[in-house]
Amino acid sequence: MSASIDAFIFDLDGTVYLGDAALPGAVEGIAELRHYGKRILFVSNKPLEPREAYARKLTRLGIPTSPDDVITSGFVLGYHLAHTEPQLRLYVVGEENLLNELRGHGLIIVPEYAEQDPMQVIMPDGIDAVVVAFDRTLDYRKLNTAYQALIRGARFFATNPDKTCPMPGGAIPDAGATIAALEHMTGRAVELLAGKPSRLMIEVALQRLDVPPQRALLVGDRLETDIFMGQQAGMFTAVTLTGVSKREDIQKMAAPPDFIIESLDELVYLCR
Ligand SMILES: [Mg+2]
Repeated sequence: MSASIDAFIFDLDGTVYLGDAALPGAVEGIAELRHYGKRILFVSNKPLEPREAYARKLTRLGIPTSPDDVITSGFVLGYHLAHTEPQLRLYVVGEENLLNELRGHGLIIVPEYAEQDPMQVIMPDGIDAVVVAFDRTLDYRKLNTAYQALIRGARFFATNPDKTCPMPGGAIPDAGATIAALEHMTGRAVELLAGKPSRLMIEVALQRLDVPPQRALLVGDRLETDIFMGQQAGMFTAVTLTGVSKREDIQKMAAPPDFIIESLDELVYLCR
């Protein structure tokens, strides 16, 4: 299979870096793959930062990266809606950077209702779809507006399904927690997820790399998102032990990834 891999898709957190430091072998491994002419794309489920921020961080860590080498769940959602349903008026439970990302794709964002009595049932108008994202500015007003729109038939989209986001010393609530709250309130299920492990994210990734799935390798540290997504798409997969997965978990899997690696500099041996 060696030379048949033309492109590599990398998860970021726990795969390429951890916090603010590149993982051992990442800088050298990615440089070597590029040296052999392999195409590289980085994917993140976090809708908090624009692609430029990831490109700057990777470049600072020694992996020269342009914004076009990165996709986030916010980018994928914006890209998809701009190509399929650009007319939808979106109410976004998300942070300012995500609103800007979606506006950058030419999408229409419904503004917040300025004043809202929490005991009042608001009648949101002009909302065609609710977008739920990782939002550290989440409050009752946003939940109420999203709830009222959803029970009146608005579409139900989300950037990423992660329940929590790992942080130094633990984790904080992520978009999955808000999705679950709204699903519980409305009895509805989210209908479109942009981030891992959705099909949409991998489709956008492969399209940008311009390779068929059987010529691409997905590298990640999470079995249930990264590896599952790559396998569903028919790609080669490699799990790195630098993040959340342990060798014991992998050995228990019915369909294990193609490769288990301890650092990214092992990848070059898989494609020479
Ligand atoms: Mg990860």
